[in-house]
Amino acid sequence: MAPDPPPSRPPACPVTRLAPSPTGALHLGNARTFLVNWCLARSAGWRVILRIEDLDTPRIKPGAIDATIDTLRWLGLDWDEGPTIQSDDLGPYRDAMRRLAAEARAYPCALTRSEIGSAASAPNEGDHETRFDPSLRPPVRSGLFTNEGTNWRLVVERGQIGFADRFAGDISLDIHHSVGDFLVWTKRGCPSYQLAVVVDDARQGVTEVVRGGDLIDSAGRQTLLYRALGLGVPPRYTHLPLVRGGDGKRLAKRHGDTRIDHYRSRGVPPERVLALLARWCGVAAGGSVSSRELVDAISPGTMTHTLPREDITFRTEDDRWLLDGA
Ligand code: GLU
Repeated sequence: MAPDPPPSRPPACPVTRLAPSPTGALHLGNARTFLVNWCLARSAGWRVILRIEDLDTPRIKPGAIDATIDTLRWLGLDWDEGPTIQSDDLGPYRDAMRRLAAEARAYPCALTRSEIGSAASAPNEGDHETRFDPSLRPPVRSGLFTNEGTNWRLVVERGQIGFADRFAGDISLDIHHSVGDFLVWTKRGCPSYQLAVVVDDARQGVTEVVRGGDLIDSAGRQTLLYRALGLGVPPRYTHLPLVRGGDGKRLAKRHGDTRIDHYRSRGVPPERVLALLARWCGVAAGGSVSSRELVDAISPGTMTHTLPREDITFRTEDDRWLLDGA
């Protein structure tokens, strides 16, 4: 009798992450993205990691991490692993920098931000970002990553980056043309947002990235970093439309207090907040819904015809509707 074939390994479980930056309290716009990410994960059986991205800004207030975690829990979102906190260990980011420096893929750059006009943090819409002209790049040689108090940039060659976004469709980006050599390490002694995300997504085995559409351009930069670091296939991306204020700008303080905690402190139940977020996802949820009840409505299979393609507008009626439920 022929021996049994070796047991085939079960396909690895897809992994996603909720990756809040604890810079300000979570608002309705971020919360909608987290809700969609969580529903996709729970409906499709993806593993969820909570990762706190506290490196990409110097503005972290004490207590902000706990407050962010508490708000996610209040909304009924959970995770299988974490929280991991980026600032706990810079070792993996330094290792990545050593490799980039040794392979002449990154170089120290002492030009100031005003000379180049480039930002180190997650380039959310409205942030000022200027292209790094290739003429500014010095000859790049293999070297040691020793000077941690200097900005380092990735060598970005010409060429298009293409990927199939689960929601936004086929995307093609020309990073050389749009931003040029971007920052991978900052003179504050920590990795840029782009490097930190790639190192973490790779070491945490993240296969699904779901986030706001203003980071679509970052997917191109992150793909280049996956290649430069030999990290294999980048995650599958899902970039979602943004929530905007009545003036068409990305939801922010100028649109009033849209923090989840603001509504929570006024006595609005989480189910009411979720009902508004669900409506913004094309799901009729009445006046009250739980996160669990939304799992079947927002899945990878249904998302592209359920979720509106256009950006969402937060209106004063929405604010009033939430507060009426208190
Ligand atoms: N921490 C980033 C933000 O809150 C998200 C980054 C990402 O999902 O790649 O804007």
